[in-house]
Amino acid sequence: MSASILGDDPETTTPKGPRVSERLRLMCVHAHPDDESSKGAATMAKYVDAGHEVLVVSCTGGERGDVLNPRLQADAHIVRDLAQVRRDEMAAAREILGVHHTWLGFVDSGLPEGDPLPPLPPGCFALESLSVTTEALVREIRRFRPHVMTTYDENGGYPHPDHVMCHDVSVSAFLAAGDPAAHPHAGPPWQPLKLYYNQTFSRARIEAFHDALTALEEESPYAEWLENWSRPDRTVTTRVECAAWFERRDAALLAHATQVDPDGTWFRVPRAVQQEVWPTEDFEAAISYVPIAEGEDDLFAGLPTDVGTADALATSPDLSIVHDTRTEREA
Ligand SMILES: [Zn+2]
Repeated sequence: MSASILGDDPETTTPKGPRVSERLRLMCVHAHPDDESSKGAATMAKYVDAGHEVLVVSCTGGERGDVLNPRLQADAHIVRDLAQVRRDEMAAAREILGVHHTWLGFVDSGLPEGDPLPPLPPGCFALESLSVTTEALVREIRRFRPHVMTTYDENGGYPHPDHVMCHDVSVSAFLAAGDPAAHPHAGPPWQPLKLYYNQTFSRARIEAFHDALTALEEESPYAEWLENWSRPDRTVTTRVECAAWFERRDAALLAHATQVDPDGTWFRVPRAVQQEVWPTEDFEAAISYVPIAEGEDDLFAGLPTDVGTADALATSPDLSIVHDTRTEREA
């Protein structure tokens, strides 16, 4: 059973109730239901247990995903209404992680395959105008008022059109949410103070798993993946130690039963090995209104620990960006 977001975890509760002054807010923007459980989930569970509030925003409903778990591919109920099944899976994962969750309401673009690639389906998330998707996310930012946001890097972290759009809309909304002139019908201005990219899937981490499995004389599923690795290395600024939450992460991922093969690559590295060789989830600070210290180990680092002071900073008219490492998308 996960700790409550209402702060009844004994570590964060005093006899008088939750220490609300420590409840900073983190918003994690993802393209599809299940992405939240494979990218930064242990970090989210850790922050929930520390008494912070975490909101996962799913941009789409994952309507065009396939059933990736071979055991469920012939299930008539699932085939008939995958969208509803994925909503139910997301609700289960949300419960396990202890996070809040909201749907942005856009429709999955699907992963185009073939040569030449087929056109994207009309009305999908990746074809929506950026002003429409930005306003939808700005409204969520101004409602939840996060101090920190996470999203994907400019290449989506993975070449799915919804992941690339997730980056675009997150950056656009991060920059617009604090501007009173932008989207005036989407709520009062609120400036999140830091924006991070998920960078859990680094070559260094996969290599560490490959080497650990090889040392144990276990078969590694990563040899081919590493041989064909073409993505450039990213700059990790922030490593959040969260090995104690890997079990919750795995349970949340397995709750997306149609999307995960429990016998697949995901679960090939024993959890104890992962906790030993790579006990962190990793992030790249992209834009920040507070300095990013060398060797950061906390997404809230550099922010006031008192929520009132942090809130005042997020609504201050004198903010300026002090860290901006955005780059152009690869062609
Ligand atoms: Zn996805």
